[in-house]
Amino acid sequence: MSTPTSHYQPPLQDIAFIHRHWLAAEADWQRMPAHEAMDQETADMVVEAAGRFCADVLAPLNGGADLQGCSLEQGRVRTPDGFPAAYAAFVEAGWPALACVPEAGGQGLPQLLDAALHEMLASANHGWTMYPGILHGAYACLHAHGDEHLRTTYLPHIVSGRWLATMCLTEPQAGSDLGLLRTQARPAGDGSYRIDGSKIFISGGDQDMSENIVHLVLARLPDAPAGTRGLSLFLAPRGIPRDGTLVPNGIHCDGIEKKMGIKGSATCAMRFEDAQAWLVGQPHQGLAAMFVMMNSARLHVGLQGVGHAEMAWQLARAYAAERRQMRVQPRPADAQGPADPIALQPAMRRILLDLRVWSEGMRAIASWVAHQLDLSEHAPDAQERSRAHALASLLTPVVKSFFTERGFALASDALQVFGGYGYVHEYRIEQTLRDARIAMIYEGTNQIQALDLLQRKVCASGGSALAPLLQVLRDEADACAAAGLEAQFAAPLRAWGDRLQALTQELCAGAQADAELAPRCAEDYLRLTGTLCMAFAWARAVRVSQGLEDASLREAKTASAHYFFSHGLLDAEHWQRRIQASAVVALPGAL
Ligand SMILES: Cc1cc2nc3c(=O)[nH]c(=O)nc-3n(C[C@H](O)[C@H](O)[C@H](O)COP(=O)(O)OP(=O)(O)OC[C@H]3O[C@@H](n4cnc5c(N)ncnc54)[C@H](O)[C@@H]3O)c2cc1C
Repeated sequence: MSTPTSHYQPPLQDIAFIHRHWLAAEADWQRMPAHEAMDQETADMVVEAAGRFCADVLAPLNGGADLQGCSLEQGRVRTPDGFPAAYAAFVEAGWPALACVPEAGGQGLPQLLDAALHEMLASANHGWTMYPGILHGAYACLHAHGDEHLRTTYLPHIVSGRWLATMCLTEPQAGSDLGLLRTQARPAGDGSYRIDGSKIFISGGDQDMSENIVHLVLARLPDAPAGTRGLSLFLAPRGIPRDGTLVPNGIHCDGIEKKMGIKGSATCAMRFEDAQAWLVGQPHQGLAAMFVMMNSARLHVGLQGVGHAEMAWQLARAYAAERRQMRVQPRPADAQGPADPIALQPAMRRILLDLRVWSEGMRAIASWVAHQLDLSEHAPDAQERSRAHALASLLTPVVKSFFTERGFALASDALQVFGGYGYVHEYRIEQTLRDARIAMIYEGTNQIQALDLLQRKVCASGGSALAPLLQVLRDEADACAAAGLEAQFAAPLRAWGDRLQALTQELCAGAQADAELAPRCAEDYLRLTGTLCMAFAWARAVRVSQGLEDASLREAKTASAHYFFSHGLLDAEHWQRRIQASAVVALPGAL
């Protein structure tokens, strides 16, 4: 059996289908003053160039970086071979500035295109992608909350990508509960602050790819109240820019983790010792400033799930076409002849179809959420902006959590297609599986995302936060009915919208008397919401593909949509029943 030679192939056709037909993005761009010059042809060119970079520069480094990992040499991190050069090429091509506003030196392109870039980066090389992974978030945070000094001294270098950024939240005793943070900040008397404390698990805390590193650090001021209300956000550069040079700051990398996946990414233990820093935003308002960064970061993590599912699909499809075992049709005992490709076996076809249907459906939904972010900032009408904001905010935890969970599960399904070969490094799928797992943990664990959705957003609003999504499901059902798709698509979509609404009302009412009810049901509620988003994705896909000239694309979309509605949507029943069981059956106490 030969080892696979094919590398990552950017899913340009599907991205173009989503942008052109599923979203009809061009018409929206032309209504938004910030993007009125944008057209689909330009968008295609940007996505193609991003895909080339991912396939030609990043994907070839992925397997080697996994084996080599990072090392710490005299207090400095050395990243895998080829990483610094790939980053120089990324900066040179202007990718960090893609969706930053022109006033800050960015290209001002829609976040929808940034989403396509981030999915492809994750497919090609998740470990490498961790280094520029929070650049956009750091830009958004400083752009919104930085004062004049921070915006002029740091923002241009972040937008250009010459300086990379980190997000320093986690401490040994404080992970999901940031209220337990202990890192201290004290005023230095000259407008700056001094930071002391230890942070762990900091991605790219040190590296050899950019000339400087800008750390965004959560810490407590001396008069800070306890808990999360006492957190302030600071910018602490590794090198302090002064008179044209970078003066070393009191920031040290004490170690890097040995870990399950994304081995090319240095996960650092950081020590801040009398480190000079500047306040970002207002004292004790650090979480609010950080949230600007976390929302974009969470969408990017959800896109990692999509990227891993896509990579798993590509690897499994290529392998299944080549690997031959047994014949599909029974034959006479004496008949000779080669075995068939396993891609013809129904069990393998089922896995491959799942991979395609979930990858493409998740891409549509993640792109839709990115497009809502663009609309929430730039739509001409205030009501439309606020609706888009509500949808993006409701669905960000779903994209982060459900898609990363599915990305990991799909990578595991794909590994099965390889049999024993899937378990060895050479065939790449085991790396995809290991790399995919972290996305369920960082940027707020998937359990915390589920609480954010059900408790903090849906129940806290008495259910009204769900209204924009219910409206979307109903509008799509009506559009499908008008397109002659009533029985297979419109009716189930409408029925599920009604069931989600009724279930939500029950949960909101029950949660008032039972404080544990929402936390008990939250994960399955998020999965149910995610499954219904997928149904929306496929209902719209089958509807808009009806008018496509490309018959093979139309047939593929139609087959996938039918498969999702006949098989994938059955999951919704399962999640609904589990939620109903959890709503009435209390869990035993601590085990
Ligand atoms: C490779 C890697 C890279 C990382 N990069 C960064 C980074 O760049 N910057 C940074 O600041 N941090 C980073 N982190 C840290 C990451 O964000 C944390 O690991 C994560 O937030 C969880 O915190 P914890 O590990 O302390 O787990 P804990 O908070 O101790 O959680 C343990 C388990 O309990 C669950 N749990 C906790 N509270 C609740 C609750 N209320 N309800 C339900 N379940 C709950 C969690 O979901 C989890 O399953 C990284 C971690 C890793 C492994």
